[in-house]
Amino acid sequence: MMIQAVDLTKTYSLNGNEVRALAGLTFGIKRGSFTALMGPSGSGKTTLMNILGCLDTPTSGEYYLNGRDVSGLSEDELSEVRNREIGFVFQSHNLLARNTALENVCLPLYYKRDRNPVEKAVAALEKVGLAGRMRHYPNQISGGESQRVAIARAIVTKPSVILADEPTGNLDTVTGAQIMDILKELNNTGVTIVIVTHEPDIAACARDIIRIRDGMLEKSPSAA
Ligand code: ADP
Ligand code: MG
Repeated sequence: MMIQAVDLTKTYSLNGNEVRALAGLTFGIKRGSFTALMGPSGSGKTTLMNILGCLDTPTSGEYYLNGRDVSGLSEDELSEVRNREIGFVFQSHNLLARNTALENVCLPLYYKRDRNPVEKAVAALEKVGLAGRMRHYPNQISGGESQRVAIARAIVTKPSVILADEPTGNLDTVTGAQIMDILKELNNTGVTIVIVTHEPDIAACARDIIRIRDGMLEKSPSAA
C-alpha cells in the first residue's frame, strides 16, 4: 500500500467550538493506483488531502505513507517527507505571479538544492505540452495552461504520489479533460494519483473511488 489510513480523525478548534472534520477513516490506496475522492462540500475532502499530503496531522489515528507512520512526525520531518514523496495540484494553481512558468516549476527544486533545476523544469514543462510557454508569466497564459504549469511544478521532483484537490474545478470541460489526460499519462508511468472531484465524468477516469460524507467513509474498494 502506498497509503494506509487507520481510524483517522481530525477535529478543528475554532473560537472555542470543535469541528469534527474527519470522524474515523480507515482505507488503503495501492501504489500505482488512480483514486477519486468524492463527497459533498464540507465532507472533509480537503482536510483529508492535507493530511495525506503531510501538510497537516490527524488529531488521532495512524497514517502510513510508503509503509512509514508519518502521523506523529514533527513539522520539519513532515516537510522532508512532503518534498520527497508528494506533488500537489490545487484547484487554483497558486503560481507566483512575478515569476515565469519556468521559474515557477524550478521552485521546488531550489528548495531541494537540486543541481540541474532548469533542465528538469524544462523537461517537466515539455511533458505537460508547454514547451512554448516557458518564458510566459501566469497572467499571459490561460487557466488550463496555468494548471498544466502547476502539474509540471508538482511532478518536477518526481514524487511517488500526486494529490490533486479539484484540479479541474475552475476549468471548462474540454480543458478539464486535457488535465485528466496528463494525470492519466503520469499514472501510466507509475505515479500514484489521488484526485478530489465533484464531477462524475472526471471520477470516471479513476479506477478506484473513495466516497466520504460527514468525515466518514461511504464506500471504498479497499477499505480495511
Ligand atoms: P471539503 O473539502 O469536503 O469541502 P473540508 O475538509 O474543507 O471539506 O471541511 C470539512 C469540515 O471542516 C467543514 O465543516 C469545514 O467547515 C471544517 N473546516 C475545514 N477547515 C477548517 C479549519 N481550518 N478550521 C475550522 N474548521 C475547518
Ligand atoms: Mg475542499
